[in-house]
Amino acid sequence: MFENLSDRLDRAFKLLKGEGKITDINVAETVKDIRKALLDADVSYKVAKNFTDDVKKKALGQDVLNSVKPGQMMTKIVHDELVQLMGGEMVDIDIKGSPAVILIAGLQGSGKTTFSGKLASFIKSKKGRQPLLVAGDVYRPAAIQQLKILGEQISVPVYTEEGSKNPVEIAKNAIKFAKDNGHNVVIVDTAGRLAVDEAMMQEVENIKKAVNPSEILFVVDSMTGQDAVNTAKEFNDRLNFDGVVLTKLDGDTRGGAALSIRSVVDKPIKFVSAGEKMDALQVFHPERMADRILGMGDIVTLVEKAQEQYDAEQARNLQKKIAKDQFNFNDFLSQIGQIKKMGNLKDLAGMIPGLGKMMKNIDIDDNAFKGIEAIIKSMTPLERENPAVINGSRRKRIAEGSGTTIQEVNRLLKQFEDTRKMMKMMSGGPRAMGGMMKGM
Ligand code: GDP
Repeated sequence: MFENLSDRLDRAFKLLKGEGKITDINVAETVKDIRKALLDADVSYKVAKNFTDDVKKKALGQDVLNSVKPGQMMTKIVHDELVQLMGGEMVDIDIKGSPAVILIAGLQGSGKTTFSGKLASFIKSKKGRQPLLVAGDVYRPAAIQQLKILGEQISVPVYTEEGSKNPVEIAKNAIKFAKDNGHNVVIVDTAGRLAVDEAMMQEVENIKKAVNPSEILFVVDSMTGQDAVNTAKEFNDRLNFDGVVLTKLDGDTRGGAALSIRSVVDKPIKFVSAGEKMDALQVFHPERMADRILGMGDIVTLVEKAQEQYDAEQARNLQKKIAKDQFNFNDFLSQIGQIKKMGNLKDLAGMIPGLGKMMKNIDIDDNAFKGIEAIIKSMTPLERENPAVINGSRRKRIAEGSGTTIQEVNRLLKQFEDTRKMMKMMSGGPRAMGGMMKGM
């Protein structure tokens, strides 16, 4: 699922990888590639265009965080936009009411009957309710049989009226049956057609009027791409449904439906279904889906952590100091503090795609900064502010005071000097964190 899209986006971000800064030119190129990737994933042109326009605006307006590289920043921007595109928050189903009625609608073959079974199983096991399945597809005896088999598998009773040609009556009778037999959620599977037609719409509408569902779910085959979106629009215009169920995400789907539906019908995707087994159902979380599409969920947390620790005021002061070549060991110490606040070093490494795996067997010492901090803390205020005064005898004293060696003190002084030079060279923002990381 989404593999192609993931690869393509990954390649688009790579364009920025070697870049030190986000600029008009490299953003334009990256955004063009992102748009192509979306279009190839069968996202509609309008949705893809709006999406990339937003990404571009955000990328160029971004206060580039210096602890984060442009490629990572772009990943974060695209991630957040994907989450928004897919609706932002997870939206749960409404199963209040006694019984709560859930109406399942969609085209024939979309996976309605299979989903009805999965939903019943979900409601039973995850919501602790007693569902009843209702076979409302009166045209295909096979559909009734299929639902009965599914019901048996998951031990949920199935209400049928074999021979009846009146789905509205069946639904009403089923609700009565549910009340009498202690079922508090009624799931009504309806008949679909191969394409949207008036008779089908009218029938579902009639059932809706008769049973007043708390939830109408529109089921759509994600493999049908753009058609899925058009069908969703037609059903929504007619039924004003509450949520979308995307099926067959396990297949060779390019993902376009998942990305376009929300912005076209303005209804949340509530479930995704990926497989024919009864437990192959997932509640839809836009955030997690975006993580999956980008194949690098953890970088998002990393950027967020950096943003949390990013004190704009402090950064501005630092920038001034760097410009005036006044960056000193006190600043260095406070930068270490910021990195430490972001968390355990190994955890941080684990959030960088690829690095976590590489570092798995390498021991990153949580106390990596300890020696550095000890050395800085053994300096006098004068030495911290003005490292140039640290001569041979001062180095010896600092080494003794910090329990380190003169070599270690020398190494830190050299790193500090290199970092300072590098920071001075890079205009346009405080590079303390990134610079220091490199220095280490
Ligand atoms: P309905 O006509 O809308 O009721 O659709 P069905 O539930 O009968 O499903 C049509 C076909 O799609 C059946 O062969 C199902 O086994 C299959 N199917 C349904 N959901 C999924 C899914 O999530 N993944 C896969 N691979 N197949 C599915």
